[in-house]
Amino acid sequence: MQSSPITVAIDGPSGSGKSSVSKAVARDLGLAYLDTGAMYRAAAWHCLDQDLELSDQETVAQAARDLPLRISTDPDDQTLRVGGTDVTDAIRETRVTSQVSAVATNLDVRAEMRRRQREIIDAARADQGGIVVEGRDITTVVAPDAEHRILITASEEARLARRSTELHGGADADQVAATRDQIVRRDQLDSTVSAFMEAADGVVTLDTSDLSFDQVVAAVLGLVQGEVEPHRRADERAPHTPDVQS
Ligand code: C5P
Repeated sequence: MQSSPITVAIDGPSGSGKSSVSKAVARDLGLAYLDTGAMYRAAAWHCLDQDLELSDQETVAQAARDLPLRISTDPDDQTLRVGGTDVTDAIRETRVTSQVSAVATNLDVRAEMRRRQREIIDAARADQGGIVVEGRDITTVVAPDAEHRILITASEEARLARRSTELHGGADADQVAATRDQIVRRDQLDSTVSAFMEAADGVVTLDTSDLSFDQVVAAVLGLVQGEVEPHRRADERAPHTPDVQS
């Protein structure tokens, strides 16, 4: 018997570790994976590339609607293209990270991204057994009907230390100070349009401050297990559709 498709919605603040955890969970369950933050980053990269004034709401919204974005939903190949340009690495640069919130707090941009994200989710449910989707408003706005909704949190201290180690190779006082803008200020700005610091009704909170990566992955899999038939597991999964055009 064919199993029902599932959506695993995962939200959380910067540095909570939700991206690597979501990717590992998708891989283990043989599901598609969508990094919605990468879509906002691609929109911001494009606006910066076009020298658009980020405070010009209508121009930025139109750029988001016209964005020729191709995002992979394969957890093992996170290639992202805008038109003919591979922006997989460029969207992680500091100039994008520090300005992405200006684009993501534009409500018309959010409406466009939400529309594209729902299309990708529907396609993955139809063709790939389901999807793990992570971001800031997935459990509440994009996929409030998801079969599993999880908020991954961690203390500010733990998030700063993790991101500092990722970016600067360590977490001494200077390295943490250099990371603070990318975590604390960005979360403050992002919180003005999405509530991702507290779990909404029916959303399970997983505090990962004192957990290892493997423990977090195991905890998420534990929450999801029982819903996924054995034939959907990684060893027997259907091949991924490489790209979804939206
Ligand atoms: O997850 P990541 O840090 O890559 O997200 C980049 C930015 O994209 C966030 O700072 C936020 O501005 C925006 N974002 C959002 N809603 C989402 C995912 C990301 O506003 N669902």
